[in-house]
Amino acid sequence: MHIGFLGLGNMGGPMAQNLLKAGHEVSVFDLSAPAVAALVSAGARDAGSVAAIAKAEVEVIITMLPAAAHVKQVYLGEDGLLAGLPAGVLLIDSSTIDPLSAREVAKAAAARGNPMLDAPVSGGTLGAAAGTLTFMVGGAKADFERAQPILAAMGKNIVHCGDAGNGQVAKVANNMLLGISMIGVAEAMSLGVALGIDAKVLAGIINSSSGRCWSSEVNNPFPGVLENAPASRGYSGGFGTDLMLKDLGLASEAARQVRQPVILGALAQQLYQSFSQQGNGGLDFSAIIELYRQGDRP
Ligand code: NAD
Repeated sequence: MHIGFLGLGNMGGPMAQNLLKAGHEVSVFDLSAPAVAALVSAGARDAGSVAAIAKAEVEVIITMLPAAAHVKQVYLGEDGLLAGLPAGVLLIDSSTIDPLSAREVAKAAAARGNPMLDAPVSGGTLGAAAGTLTFMVGGAKADFERAQPILAAMGKNIVHCGDAGNGQVAKVANNMLLGISMIGVAEAMSLGVALGIDAKVLAGIINSSSGRCWSSEVNNPFPGVLENAPASRGYSGGFGTDLMLKDLGLASEAARQVRQPVILGALAQQLYQSFSQQGNGGLDFSAIIELYRQGDRP
């Protein structure tokens, strides 16, 4: 299949590589010339512009862009995709954006005869490279079924979450909980250690008791508890504090739009924001435990 791919950054680059590996013909565009060059050397075609992708006789277009403003510009802008696209081309936006913006763009696409899915991902850059991403997909069921084999070249777990925007709803709700649960684990681990228990013993108890969650079991924030977690390598790699901050901002904004209280989500957002302001935005978000541990370092 001939697929257009826009946004070849940390996530989009490896995702487009996996489409090539699966045997698809891929035409690409990114504002960054080195990002395009990397894909061209793997066999992709350089489309040259957003407008050229729209005219490249592709059957499907996938976008993986930083935020809602970029998505709106690429789809709705004067030289954007919708201005030049033939009807029927399936559009898939995998960027993480707020659900209402996703619905707005999907509505404009539908008005031009282009079905659209929001399909944000979890799994990070490692999942993007390994082709094991989770896709949370919003849009019509028939369009989801059309997209399924394409998404399967980039991910393992592909879930239809309901109508347009619901992929983004699933993503913001899950990531808000993740941001909160990490702070909870950081607080509990720090309390236990300050009171004298060994960090590994405490993590073992939590992970076989009712406090267990992904943040305690897979990405425990306490250094030395899990050999392969970012906490044991100076919080490098993993999911950056600033990316978590972005997702908590989307959750707060989406909550405001429907007047739904997100009390712990807002508190978590402020804690990550303070931590980022202190120069830690590039560290894995589990480093938030440093807010609790500054006094008990050896
Ligand atoms: P990135 O900044 O590495 O890549 C974005 C790419 O989009 C860049 O190469 C940029 O040049 C390109 N771009 C921006 N405007 C463009 C335009 N008008 N036309 C063409 N290209 C344009 O970001 P990323 O880490 O790849 O993340 C992409 C999306 O995936 C974000 O919405 C992010 O929240 C989400 N996400 C990221 C991760 C992660 O771990 N990095 C995990 C899950 C979801």
